[in-house]
Amino acid sequence: MGYRIGIDVGGTNIVAGLFDEDGNLLGKSKASTIKTSSAELLGQLASLCGELLEEQQISGRLLAAVGVGLPGFINSETGLVTAANLPLQDNPVAERLRRLLDVPVTVENDVKMIVYGESLRGSGQGLSHVLGVTLGTGMASAWVSEGRLHGGSGGLAGEIGHIAFTDIPYVCGCGMRGCLETVVSASGVARQARDGLSSGWVGLLADRFPPEQREELTSKDVWQAYQDGDAFAGQVFQRTAYWLSRVLVPSVALLSPDVIIVGGGVASAGEVFFEPLRAYVAESLHPLYRERLMIVPPSLGEDSGLYGSAEYAAKRLIV
Ligand SMILES: [Zn+2]
Repeated sequence: MGYRIGIDVGGTNIVAGLFDEDGNLLGKSKASTIKTSSAELLGQLASLCGELLEEQQISGRLLAAVGVGLPGFINSETGLVTAANLPLQDNPVAERLRRLLDVPVTVENDVKMIVYGESLRGSGQGLSHVLGVTLGTGMASAWVSEGRLHGGSGGLAGEIGHIAFTDIPYVCGCGMRGCLETVVSASGVARQARDGLSSGWVGLLADRFPPEQREELTSKDVWQAYQDGDAFAGQVFQRTAYWLSRVLVPSVALLSPDVIIVGGGVASAGEVFFEPLRAYVAESLHPLYRERLMIVPPSLGEDSGLYGSAEYAAKRLIV
């Protein structure tokens, strides 16, 4: 066993964390994502690792593994990575980074790594069956059962944001119409609010965003309006909870998780979202599920993905 580094690569920022062999976070390093070319991006990841080791005065020889989480699709058979918001197209990221750092490297989808981290050290700690969902720019989920992350055939398990419903009218970024993501992601919450205002809702949110400024409205503005007492803003979160429950209910019946961890920008709205979510999920489930199921926010903040990718690399490469 040895030290390991977890890296969370986002479209805007990269955060890397150095962990000791017991999985304790020793230090972090953050930088703006370089998106000019894959070579420069991989060079940046390698330099962040070097900086972290230097800061903690740890020799590179003691580094045992590096895990990377990024917003993209990783072909589980070939290891090739494609990420729309990064300069990566069918790119062998793990192999290239391994050559730069001279240590074993794993690369996985960022949401899977966030949920894996939460299952080990966060809200899922001590629980065997953890379903995690993130509601950020998009929507995705991951399933960790008895310590194992399940990717399914082709590594495609978890894309519940792209389940289409006939009563959702919006076209998704993926090209399909009616995807759940178009209403429950952060941009989906903003979209629901904009549509509600256009159909005549009045109140604080309507006053703050007259028609000519409506395109600028974000999910944070909806939350702020709710905090300030706007009834319509509260209804948007309630509606979002309802939509999410429509995929969580069958997921619970199929998987029987101990806990569902719901994170991302929308979930940070707190109880205005979680309370109706728990109620909607409960009302459609058999009591046997209801009695044991918890639906909670994550507890590691922005570090979930660091813990996840570092531990994932350690378990896959060191043991
Ligand atoms: Zn879609």
